Amino acid sequence: DAVIKKQRPPPLVLSRPKDLIQEACQRLVLSDQQLRRIMQSMEKSMEQGLATSTKKVAVKMLPTYVDSVPNGTESGDFLALDLGGTNFRVLHIKLQGKETKMTGKIFRVPESIMRGTGEALFDHIAGCMAKFMGENDLKDAQKLPLGFTFSFPCEQEGLTKGKLVTWTKGFKASGVEGVDVVTLLHEACHRRKDIDIDVVALLNDTVGTLMACAFQENSCQIGVIVGTGTNACYMERLDRIPKLAGYVDEHGVTPEEMIINTEWGAFGDDGALDFLRTEWDEVVDRESINPGQHLYEKMISGMYMGECARVVLEDLAKQGLLFGGNSDAISVPHCFPTKFVSEIDSDLLEDDDRTFQKTYQILEDIGVEMITANDCANVAYVCSLISTRAAHLTAAGIAMLLNRMNKKHVTVGVDGSVYRFHPTYPTLLDAKIGELIVGDIEYKLMLSEDGSGRGAALVAAVATRLKEEKLA
Ligand code: BGC
Ligand code: MG
Repeated sequence: DAVIKKQRPPPLVLSRPKDLIQEACQRLVLSDQQLRRIMQSMEKSMEQGLATSTKKVAVKMLPTYVDSVPNGTESGDFLALDLGGTNFRVLHIKLQGKETKMTGKIFRVPESIMRGTGEALFDHIAGCMAKFMGENDLKDAQKLPLGFTFSFPCEQEGLTKGKLVTWTKGFKASGVEGVDVVTLLHEACHRRKDIDIDVVALLNDTVGTLMACAFQENSCQIGVIVGTGTNACYMERLDRIPKLAGYVDEHGVTPEEMIINTEWGAFGDDGALDFLRTEWDEVVDRESINPGQHLYEKMISGMYMGECARVVLEDLAKQGLLFGGNSDAISVPHCFPTKFVSEIDSDLLEDDDRTFQKTYQILEDIGVEMITANDCANVAYVCSLISTRAAHLTAAGIAMLLNRMNKKHVTVGVDGSVYRFHPTYPTLLDAKIGELIVGDIEYKLMLSEDGSGRGAALVAAVATRLKEEKLA
């Protein structure tokens, strides 16, 4: 074994050859045949979701009541709220031509609030809003049209109303599931009396992402998030949404299409992914706050990718294949966030001499005691398998949507921390989609900057424009 840290030679520990590790990890490598099977089965799940709105279907396919994308003339002043990850944001957005001017403030959502009562959560949100409006002299602006990006599954009845189906991504505030979140927000504002709001749109972050991208590129028809969680939305033909049969909008018109929030994170919750889930995926799920839920998300997104790698490494250490068989340090749950997977994967990418400096540093920081050069190479190998699998699983989902829509040119707006910060994920994703689509389809992935903010303003703007057109 080569010496990694020049100053400190690694201890002499016999490392097992890589092929034993390769053999143990084979199940993390998905063949195109397996990916095609996923595509088929995901489309079937989606069709079930489009047919009924019962609780039983895994993939909910939620109507968003957004049936037109921006036409580029949207303008005006808007407020946007963005709740969906570890942060909450309040934004003041001015749309002028293709320009957006934005001021905003980021607030942390402490875990105690994420998992306390719904009332406390919405009081926190209203409190942050009041603070932002006060600091920015916006007290008079409180009647500005507001877009609320709420990045959880919501059963919407219209653009301004939606009941939370189930919390995801570590949230678990009580008394919110099954309740309209816009009402909860209004009630919280009334409780504090110093702010009032005019919610004109409630939307998912994927919808904001699609809209923000469509504002730039009108061929955008799919919005995808691969961040803390994962999800996609797309433009579906109304005649393929049986559960909306007979639907007319407030103008008495049946639109041709509507954006559907797929909530694909829950794909597999009915067993559809069992044929390729590993016992490591089962551990990640079992130890999570919502066992049995969002199984596809748990194989892909940032909240779980690092933990999944850690569980594999722990197992390999216990089998004596890593760290001289000492698994103490790597056995601490959540000691290996997805950020480490990104950093280690960039070691593989950038480090021509394979010195694995970053990998070594990370393992040392975690407290792994005996690290050999082989260990570093093997850890990097495991990380690359986990992130490649995540990219390929996402590719199956996107390719399935592209094939289903069967349109000539489609831009896919993508956002989220994994897509933004993982060194190889975007390339792996793009390449695999190219291999999985069929027929004459041209697609393009486009980073959609801040869909949850700008997109919220755009949905609010489109809603306001349509309202004004109706009044005129
Ligand atoms: C939620 C989706 C959201 C996605 C990305 C998932 O956990 O269920 O509503 O779009 O995370 O933020
Ligand atoms: Mg977000």
